[in-house]
Amino acid sequence: MLRRMGNIPVKSDDNENVIQNEKLKQISVRGIAQVEDVNEIKAGFNRHLHYTLIKDRNIATAHDFYMALANCVKDHIVSRWIRTQQISYQREPKRVYYLSMEYNMGRFLQNNMINIGIEDACDEAMYQLGLDMEELESMEGELHLSNGSMGRLSACFLDSMASLGIPAYGYGIRYNAGAFTQRIIDGEQHEDVDDWLRLGNPWERARPEYVFPVHFYGKVANSAIGREWVDTQVVYAVPHDYPIPGYKNNVVNTLRLWSAKSTEGFKLKLFNNGDYIQAIFDRCLAENITRVMYPTAANTYENQEIRLKQEYFLCSASLQDIITRYKSSKVSQTDTGRTDFTNFAEKNIIQMNNTYSAWIIPELMRILIDVEHYSWGAAWKIVNNSCAFTNHNILSVSLEKWPVELIQKVLPRHMEILYQINFFHLENLKETFCVNLDTVYGLSCISNECFDMAMLGVLGSCAVNGVSKFHSNYLKNFTFSKLYELEPEKFLNITNGVTPRRWLFLCNPTLSNVISEKLGDKWPVQLEKLESLRKLCRDNNFMRAISKAKEDNKQKLVETIHKKYGIEIDPFSLFDVQVHKIHEYKRQWLNILHIVTLYNRLKYNKNYSPKQCRTVFIGGKAEPGDKIGKSIIKLITSIAQIINDDPVIDGKIKVIVLENYGVTVAEEIIPCADVSQHLTLPGSEASGTSHMKFMLNGSIIVATLDGAILEIVNEVGHVNMFIFGMNFDEKKELQAKGYDPMEVYKQNADLKQCLDQIRSGFFSPRNLDEFSDLVDRLLTKDEYFVLADYEDYIHTQDLVSTTFEDKKKWNEMVIRNIAVSGRFSIDRTVREYAKLIWNVEPMTEALPAPADCDKILN
Ligand SMILES: *Cc1c(COP(=O)(O)O)cnc(C)c1O
Repeated sequence: MLRRMGNIPVKSDDNENVIQNEKLKQISVRGIAQVEDVNEIKAGFNRHLHYTLIKDRNIATAHDFYMALANCVKDHIVSRWIRTQQISYQREPKRVYYLSMEYNMGRFLQNNMINIGIEDACDEAMYQLGLDMEELESMEGELHLSNGSMGRLSACFLDSMASLGIPAYGYGIRYNAGAFTQRIIDGEQHEDVDDWLRLGNPWERARPEYVFPVHFYGKVANSAIGREWVDTQVVYAVPHDYPIPGYKNNVVNTLRLWSAKSTEGFKLKLFNNGDYIQAIFDRCLAENITRVMYPTAANTYENQEIRLKQEYFLCSASLQDIITRYKSSKVSQTDTGRTDFTNFAEKNIIQMNNTYSAWIIPELMRILIDVEHYSWGAAWKIVNNSCAFTNHNILSVSLEKWPVELIQKVLPRHMEILYQINFFHLENLKETFCVNLDTVYGLSCISNECFDMAMLGVLGSCAVNGVSKFHSNYLKNFTFSKLYELEPEKFLNITNGVTPRRWLFLCNPTLSNVISEKLGDKWPVQLEKLESLRKLCRDNNFMRAISKAKEDNKQKLVETIHKKYGIEIDPFSLFDVQVHKIHEYKRQWLNILHIVTLYNRLKYNKNYSPKQCRTVFIGGKAEPGDKIGKSIIKLITSIAQIINDDPVIDGKIKVIVLENYGVTVAEEIIPCADVSQHLTLPGSEASGTSHMKFMLNGSIIVATLDGAILEIVNEVGHVNMFIFGMNFDEKKELQAKGYDPMEVYKQNADLKQCLDQIRSGFFSPRNLDEFSDLVDRLLTKDEYFVLADYEDYIHTQDLVSTTFEDKKKWNEMVIRNIAVSGRFSIDRTVREYAKLIWNVEPMTEALPAPADCDKILN
């Protein structure tokens, strides 16, 4: 690979450059850089190093070089970005507004180079300048304003909407501190603040000239025409824009993140009274709104008030932006000068990601009624037709509810509107079902003096969807069963997906090349093309190429792991990976019990001699407040230490704990996995998306029948996966019968041995009791039925080992998995949203490049 050759100084003699260039062209499989493009990149890079960073090559650091290159890449984005906006203003298409409290974007540099189509030119330019591209890329911090999967989904959505040419905006919050950085010290998780803005962000453009005021507190008064929200405190929302380039289609959409800024006039009275210092302190307080992202799910926030303000802040600022844009369109104009909102829903669709952005509903009602003077009925119709709601949770504890008292204090006018929404909802229920008040009041949006945001999301939207078939059915049958009966046509399913740009083309060039050789270069935007690989699933040459790609990736990872953790691993061992949040519901416990079971066999069973070694990778963050999750991390690291150092084991099992799991670590590990584990108890995962990334990269999935796995099984077939454990109905049955984990423990000698060891301090010799509480939790409660699935899981993992020995069979399975993963492209997901909910048309052809970037297009 051209790009992986850095750190070789090349003389900048022109003649030699040409020769070098020619040589490199021959080995470049990713694309061929044109000499003039390379020269332009070099010139842009040098210009930015000099004029933007004000450094020379003698004092510039790797980070400076990264900044120079990022700025140079951004130059190539700018004209496309401006032109995309111009076209959108001319054509006035229906726009999609995607609201999310979380974005997990990862790094931008390589993704942007790829999507703009200048990756090979940049690689070549850096190479010629004697710079190591991988080192420059590693200088970029991640944009990680997310707790995990929902934020990652939002990022995939943005990539896809741009790549399909859908006129879309992402809105979010620019937290000063996003997700924490995880450090493992003495086996324990430590949380560092991720100071992602410290060195500046080359992709971001602040737009302080476009601020909007956001109001809080105050009271509601009667005005001449109705109700009025007065005496409020005001905070400004400042937009910060990020370009989101589509894949080689010259479209660049915008992600707009809001940051809080206090207003000059805020507490003006205090200024006048001379309390200058207090006034400054108050300004700082106002800006706290966007200071930190809350780590935990709803209802557990330590400071609920700031979280509530964050949610409203996002909705209010974004809605003002949306309305401003709408007001500048022709369809909104009237002769009288008053804005006509009757076309609003035809030109705007607001997709609410989870309930966190459901404040859009009462906020749009307030604006339409109090400010624009529409009637309740007319306003409700506009709101209903322009909002859509995606639910991402399945566990009912994560459904968001806000204390009425708190809403009353922070958003008094919205509370009035919420009461009224609930009133009409209850009237509607009574009328439809002719039920008595008792039943109806069980279905109120308000219970225990809290307002149910999920019900609001359903009532105020034109469409409600879950994120996998299983999850959407669950919503209909359980979570929203009564609301479903009321308006069945609203409910639909759209299964999640992942972007093949980042999750294959970017992170796995070796496999991408093998695929491109067969399918050409369009597959990153037409992933259904992978289907045709199925006919090559027994083709010897193709199998060899696929397994060679995996071997190369593994070899490279072995070096990285050695550098980072000082641990040697066998590149020919089976790479067994479990990476995602560390939480009881993900059941890392099963993985732990399997590792200990293998350990005991190797250590105590003389007749046991496995044919191949296994390297288990476990990565993930536990929420800072999740004590159990953190103990699980400690348990894993303790076991890893004992096993990795045990001479009897001699490397037959190795356990690697990956630190600070996030997008970048995912990009490293996913291309290398032979198997990937998804162990949740059926009924606890809404969709899951990481299994889709693993399949796409040729890993075989070990999983329970939960979330989107059911659909994956349907596509690829049981025989090409390792499915184990109870299904949802069996779990329900066991639950009804009464589940006693202690019984299971007593009856299974291997399991008993593992748990006794852990409990008695075998893996924690310095603190024998360290894990006894954790084990007791399993033995007495075992909320996620870990022990019940142990036996089948171990059996299945044994099957994984024996299957892996049969390379032919394994490679056939790998190819069959890759071939069906086209269905799990985010582009399929977004096309379904576009058709079923948004009613917008994806673009079929790329825009022509703007004149000033013709030169750089290849
Ligand atoms: C895909 C992804 C996730 C989602 O993982 P699940 O296993 O679906 O929960 C979380 N974090 C990162 C960094 C991801 O890339």
